[in-house]
Amino acid sequence: MQFHKYDVLIVGAGGAGMRAAIESGQRARTAVLTKIYPTRSHTGAAQGGMCAALSNVEEDNWEWHTFDTIKGGDYLVDQDAAEIMAKEAIDAVLDLERMGLPFNRTPEGKIDQRRFGGHTREHGTAPVRRACYAADRTGHMILQTLYQNCIKHGVEFFNEFYVLDVNMSTNEDGEEVCTGAVAYELATGEIHVFEAKSVVFATGGFGKVFKTTSNAHTLTGDGMGIVYRKGLPLEDMEFYQFHPTGLAGLGILISEAVRGEGGILRNVDGERFMERYAPTIKDLAPRDIVARSMALEVLEGRGCGSNKDYVLLDVTHLGEEVLESKLPDITAFSRTYLGVDPISEPVPVYPTAHYAMGGIPTNVDGEVLRDNETSVSGLYAAGECACVSVHGSNRLGTNSLLDINVFGRRAGIAAAEYAHSREHVEMPEEPAKLVQGMVDHLRTAHGGERVANIRTALQETMDANASVYRTEDTLKQALSDVQLLKERYGRIAVHDKGMRFNSDLLEAVELGFLLDLAEALVNSALARKESRGGHAREDYGARDDTNFMRHSMSYKQLPDAEDPDAPLGLTGFLADIRLDYKPVSVTRYQPMERKY
Ligand SMILES: Cc1cc2nc3c(=O)[nH]c(=O)nc-3n(C[C@H](O)[C@H](O)[C@H](O)COP(=O)(O)OP(=O)(O)OC[C@H]3O[C@@H](n4cnc5c(N)ncnc54)[C@H](O)[C@@H]3O)c2cc1C
Repeated sequence: MQFHKYDVLIVGAGGAGMRAAIESGQRARTAVLTKIYPTRSHTGAAQGGMCAALSNVEEDNWEWHTFDTIKGGDYLVDQDAAEIMAKEAIDAVLDLERMGLPFNRTPEGKIDQRRFGGHTREHGTAPVRRACYAADRTGHMILQTLYQNCIKHGVEFFNEFYVLDVNMSTNEDGEEVCTGAVAYELATGEIHVFEAKSVVFATGGFGKVFKTTSNAHTLTGDGMGIVYRKGLPLEDMEFYQFHPTGLAGLGILISEAVRGEGGILRNVDGERFMERYAPTIKDLAPRDIVARSMALEVLEGRGCGSNKDYVLLDVTHLGEEVLESKLPDITAFSRTYLGVDPISEPVPVYPTAHYAMGGIPTNVDGEVLRDNETSVSGLYAAGECACVSVHGSNRLGTNSLLDINVFGRRAGIAAAEYAHSREHVEMPEEPAKLVQGMVDHLRTAHGGERVANIRTALQETMDANASVYRTEDTLKQALSDVQLLKERYGRIAVHDKGMRFNSDLLEAVELGFLLDLAEALVNSALARKESRGGHAREDYGARDDTNFMRHSMSYKQLPDAEDPDAPLGLTGFLADIRLDYKPVSVTRYQPMERKY
């Protein structure tokens, strides 16, 4: 076992982690731990853009952006946080420009901007050009730019280090504080203990609970799972976003930028059906509305193809020049994966699991909440794994690249300042006990269950029962399936017993996180008897502000630490979630009927 000591530890090297590290690295001794090479993080797959009311190509302002974010999130957004994000967006983009990010430009040399779903002028009157972009590789450019700047500021990276636990200790004042984290080094199988004064989780989303998803294989919700297993809450887990345009049958993402540039959705009759659902902004309605509309078209028999199970994204009128210059990667994806050339024929698309609105609850400085009122000293979270909540029940396109920059920066500053104001608090006596136990258990287990089979079954039930539309029955089915899978998970065996590059073992650990998160998602979805944003119930079709305009908070009830048979922190069993609620912060906009 190896020991390390830093001021600040950042877990995750995506956009949020690296934006935090740039701030922290200039103020305190900072290490970034990442399970994959930094520039392979999912932020690099982001295509369409990052929004800010720069007014470079038409009139815009941060107040309209705030309103769009709140309405887009179906009024579950914490409005104080949304206002901060929209205001700080402008500097967030300019900071990236100064760091060297090559944005697309207008003929006058300003950063160019394009349209995206739900971003409007004058509170919904018409779409507005708010998304800054670098072709359809915006995330790639952000990630490379941030990485280079981290290197410049002397941030130390530990690549292919899987963080599997976070440590808490009680300080002299009797307060429980975060004191570090424990990681497994993929190359050697060694366990490393990192002592730190503050820890920032920036581990990204958990799209792999679904089968059809735009998310990379690495998005298994580790950070959320680790924090949840400490008895800390997860917020708004039922709100998972289905992006309207995944390549049909595959889930690979076709950015909303395609519709921003003028792409149109059509059903089997060639009808531009979004005119019926969102007469003002049509195909540029927020994602929850477009995804629900597409699912309805298919349910009502107006889908395309032999199984009538998808709709078409038509860009044939845009011309080769626009597609090749502004959307080159997406044009190539469609050719490569479906054999469809968007220049001459429409592309088959269907909603794909895309983004977690919920996650580790934090305040606007990234401090992790212990409950509705208090936070955990020294523990921070930012990016997709966190819930501030600026996205409420439905995130607007380009607001995530923005979120990771604004709140990544804030968390990095806060974590470094906290580290400066405190001394190291002693770690628990055996800081690696839980991780060592997990790893030993998995290496020696001889059960008959295989990780791949359980993962497939989990993804299939989530796709079938907890997708765009849900009902009491489908959710109960999903919950009992997940429960059974958790029992089976207790009997898994890992075939690779070795130390070096044992990805088998880590996939088993990741599956445990996915099972916990799926359970929290389905459990809170079952309790939310209304339709709001990304959570659409066929049996409760309307939004119910009286009973449900509140954030859900899921707490995992922990097994007794003294119980020798307690499942070594791998996963607990069902019916051990306590659900609580937290008020929404409303500073300015009372909820209204949501029309587009
Ligand atoms: C295909 C696609 C396109 C998108 N396009 C856009 C877009 O155009 N605009 C927009 O605003 N949003 C977009 N999004 C969403 C946005 O890209 C993500 O929400 C955002 O980039 C998440 O950033 P992050 O830093 O939180 O996490 P990530 O970039 O996913 O990084 C997570 C990091 O955590 C690390 N990690 C995870 N677990 C562990 C562990 N156990 N130990 C150590 N390290 C760990 C990983 O190694 C990685 O470095 C898109 C998403 C996808 C999937």
